[in-house]
Amino acid sequence: MVVEVSIPLAEKWLHEFCKAVIEIEEYLNELDTAVGDGEHGSNICNGARALQECLGTHGSKSLGEFFEFVGMTIINSVGGASGALYGTLFLRLSDVTANRSSATLNTITQAFEFALNGIKELGRVKPGDKTLVDALDPAVKSLILSVDNSDNLLVAFAKAHNAAELGCAKTAQMEARKGRGSYQGQRSIGHVDPGATSMTALFETLFRATNVITNKQD
Ligand code: ADP
Ligand code: MG
Repeated sequence: MVVEVSIPLAEKWLHEFCKAVIEIEEYLNELDTAVGDGEHGSNICNGARALQECLGTHGSKSLGEFFEFVGMTIINSVGGASGALYGTLFLRLSDVTANRSSATLNTITQAFEFALNGIKELGRVKPGDKTLVDALDPAVKSLILSVDNSDNLLVAFAKAHNAAELGCAKTAQMEARKGRGSYQGQRSIGHVDPGATSMTALFETLFRATNVITNKQD
């Protein structure tokens, strides 16, 4: 049973995330056409392709160094609001995991909570504004509950993914108030938010990567 997020697990996670968003690139662009300017898929996949090229060569000695490398790669390759937002997420994960070689559920939960707060501050956004926060916020709340319940890592990430997915589905009923989506006003209702969709993929792949590493060890 995998009990901590290690560098190999984090690498696997990012590797799976890159593949997952590249698979849904067109879908993310379509979603962003309904609520924004039609390029969320292209933006996030620029980051995914840049990461794929250097994931094998980063040579990070700590989890914090690895997450910093991911955050900087994203900031340098992703345009649009999502580049700064996803970049902030990983830089904040890096701050909390710092020079550790692995992170417990408790530490990674604190790191995600710190990342969520950073995104809320940077985007001046709160839950209900129809953004990626509507997937991230419930996922973080679920992780906090999992820490209290002493869930194992795999169960905690499965629940966090479910929470993100539910939160993302709820964005269909919301009116966009932030970012380019807000220009569409009421026309944004009826479509899920593209950023919440890619954020759900981030938690889905965290769960999947943990599952793969767990099966390898058992
Ligand atoms: P842009 O909005 O610059 O076109 P993208 O299309 O790549 O950038 O990303 C759009 C996504 O970014 C939205 O679906 C939303 O989830 C998220 N987003 C946009 N603005 C904000 C904000 N101020 N705070 C949080 N998330 C935001
Ligand atoms: Mg856009």
